[in-house]
Amino acid sequence: MKVVGKDVRSNYYPRVTCDLDKVRRNTEEVMRRAKAAGIQVAAVVKGVNGLPEIAKVFEEAGCRWIATSRMEQLKNLRDQGISLPFMLIRIPMLSEVPDVIECCDVSLNSDMALLEALNAEAALKNKVHKVILMVEVGDLREGFWDRAELVAAAKYTEAAANLHLLGLGMNVGCYGSVAATKEKMQELVDAAELVEAEIGRKLEILSGADTTAFPRILDGTMPKRINSMRLGEVMTIGRDLPDLYDTPMPYMIRDAWHLKAEVIEVHRKPTHPIGELCTDAFGHKQVYEDRGVRNRALLAIGKLDYAFPEELVPTEPGIEVIGASSDHTIIDIEDCPREIKTGDIVEFEIRYTALLYLTDDSNVAVEFI
Ligand SMILES: *Cc1c(COP(=O)(O)O)cnc(C)c1O
Repeated sequence: MKVVGKDVRSNYYPRVTCDLDKVRRNTEEVMRRAKAAGIQVAAVVKGVNGLPEIAKVFEEAGCRWIATSRMEQLKNLRDQGISLPFMLIRIPMLSEVPDVIECCDVSLNSDMALLEALNAEAALKNKVHKVILMVEVGDLREGFWDRAELVAAAKYTEAAANLHLLGLGMNVGCYGSVAATKEKMQELVDAAELVEAEIGRKLEILSGADTTAFPRILDGTMPKRINSMRLGEVMTIGRDLPDLYDTPMPYMIRDAWHLKAEVIEVHRKPTHPIGELCTDAFGHKQVYEDRGVRNRALLAIGKLDYAFPEELVPTEPGIEVIGASSDHTIIDIEDCPREIKTGDIVEFEIRYTALLYLTDDSNVAVEFI
């Protein structure tokens, strides 16, 4: 991602604008509530492709770790002067173990082969690497499902000279859409007690999931033993928990991020395609509503940049996203009070999913305001 004014001309589009002060205020609201619940936060920066400006905000707000799924982002953050310890939250690849030992304070793990490789590499480098073992609770992505295998991995880690078993973690709401209910969160505590009975000591960290579990802090149902969370979405973008998870957070600022794209064509056209219909640019069969002839504009941005058109929320009344191909977005402007012309800029609010793609996109610039 490029920065407007630094890497590209001041009228470069498409661009994402970020109000850093709004992100800071949102982060502080989240951190205050986490702290009151006894939760240490691993601030997850993968949703903004590890933008150093955002990592700095998280660092200043009192997070305990900077976390992400990609080693490349962490290496860059160290170069950019972030000094918090790093947590790798995707299970490491065997091929990146040397980098993990070099650069990360702690990693999430769910595989014996990895634990052995981490221990061997840490021994070579004369380091002790911290490990959080992931427990599968039903979302069916990473983690030990068999509790006997979990206990065996915990015993191995506990005994390994160059590993330190920091604790256990769990994740939900990703592959399996499983909700972070208080019963689900309790499964992590139960697994921890099982492991503690075997290793004969208390675990320091129980790392309870992601943003989808933050409502358990707000409603006071987070089990008391869970003392850490890995939070990205809720701090980065103030609108997702209220919009998507029915969690009122009136103190959050909803519009810290915007997307701005440039109009390249304005025409009145029919709304239903004319001709024999087969598939769209992505090989999908589509359904089109016939709304007669309407005024519409074409924007120089597309699915390549944000993946999901429905994640763009126009800020102006009377504008509707009606479709997109890889490099074009089509908006209906029939009911827009503004007269939109070629060269004009149209603005959207964005959700986390769009931000994830936009910030990882060499065509899109970012502007910090
Ligand atoms: C992405 C991720 C998180 C953070 O998720 P958010 O929804 O951004 O809070 C936490 N843990 C793991 C393992 C992840 O992959």
